[in-house]
Amino acid sequence: MKHSRYIFPEPISRAEALRRMAAAVTVGALGLSGCNPTPSATPVTVGAAEGKVSRRRNPRNGDEVSMLGFGCMRFPTVGGDRYTGDIDRAPTRQMLEYAYECGVNYFDTAWMYHKGTSEQMVGEVLKQYPRESFYLADKMPPTAKTLSEAKEIFSTQLSRCGVDYFDYYLCHSISRQYVFQNLYLDEGVLDFLLEQKRAGKIRQLGFSFHGDLALFEWLLALPVEWDFVQIQMNWLDWKDNVRQAETLYTMLAERKIPVIVMEPIRGGALIDVPFAVKEMMQQSDAELSPAAWALKFCATYPYVLTVLSGMSKMEHVVENCQTFTDFKPLSEEQMEMLHHAADLYRNNSRINCTDCLYCMPCPYGVDIAGIFRVYNRCVDDHVLPNPSAKHDEEYLRRRRILLNRYKNAVNEKGRVDRCTGCNKCSPKCPQGLHIPQQLSRVERLIETVRNEWK
Ligand code: SF4
Ligand code: SF4
Repeated sequence: MKHSRYIFPEPISRAEALRRMAAAVTVGALGLSGCNPTPSATPVTVGAAEGKVSRRRNPRNGDEVSMLGFGCMRFPTVGGDRYTGDIDRAPTRQMLEYAYECGVNYFDTAWMYHKGTSEQMVGEVLKQYPRESFYLADKMPPTAKTLSEAKEIFSTQLSRCGVDYFDYYLCHSISRQYVFQNLYLDEGVLDFLLEQKRAGKIRQLGFSFHGDLALFEWLLALPVEWDFVQIQMNWLDWKDNVRQAETLYTMLAERKIPVIVMEPIRGGALIDVPFAVKEMMQQSDAELSPAAWALKFCATYPYVLTVLSGMSKMEHVVENCQTFTDFKPLSEEQMEMLHHAADLYRNNSRINCTDCLYCMPCPYGVDIAGIFRVYNRCVDDHVLPNPSAKHDEEYLRRRRILLNRYKNAVNEKGRVDRCTGCNKCSPKCPQGLHIPQQLSRVERLIETVRNEWK
């Protein structure tokens, strides 16, 4: 057989999975006094009922997890955006129920999502189903400062979600060593979470990561058994010099730590792909949408346990469930095609914003994500005006489009010229963006185009 990086290993038996689960519990019970991660098997694709979303068996504990996980940070809202508005409950309920009926059994919420109301919404919907029929993931927010605050948060999370335990629990958005050191080690929050694991209130403990390679190595070298790790992974970030998804994934695979993928579509950026990339995709498989390509790319890697998608419309749920029903991985040629597509994509000038809103609110009211959205949308649609080519007749059309979109999408109080450059926002950005610099780039373009328009 031809050697492939993407080939799945032989399945393991249920008994073997249970044996390893017992071993993992024993090692986990050692907590900080335990040793480095014990090698385990690869997540194995297992069937699901016919016509349902495929599942992978977690070799650490035998959980059969749907390969599509429901990311609960982008529910539809009313009365504003995800930051200012409230969850639009009826369509959100429908989406969650539809996903569950299709076989999705992994739901990922967090303290910070939708100002805390995501946890409550997810809990309300899931309580109608048997507790053992779904896996609920929640996270300790990076904003917690003390052990007593962390304890209070954890107990509120359990009651908000209406559950006695979390199946998967994460130290959320680790991006700075000193934050982890202060909160989890010095304050003792990691010990507290390990205690919760021993008490059965957390079944699997991991972290979600947004930092650099040195920090990742440091976290993996700690004397603690990480049951899983959540990383940003998609075909554009795979070889990206900052995100380094390939390196992170490989380090986890070498340690046999199951990977949970976040941002597989990069906040929607891999839906509006450049025309040349779209053509490549269509030539390879005209049936697959860019979103399906992006999700399949991640799930083709065998150590990936589940791929989270933050779905905000029913049509996203329907399409994504279809993508993972009777899942077939991409071929080696298709994976190579996406690596090539990433080179093409990187040559345009998008701002690397995933629309997560972690930087909001700006104390001066700047609509950071809204401004980047307008800019990136113009890049994706190939209508970003280039002031150095202003004699080009396309330029007139493009500058009109940019200014109209900016006027319609960003209200007066959130405009880019309100930015003072205080840089309070950048440390909160998991993409490592220097936000005022990027805003200034957009401002320069808008000002130039507007002045020529007058
Ligand atoms: S740098 Fe600009 S966008 Fe960021 S917090 Fe300060 S004023 Fe707001
Ligand atoms: S600028 Fe950074 S923190 Fe703000 S929405 Fe974009 S990716 Fe998220």
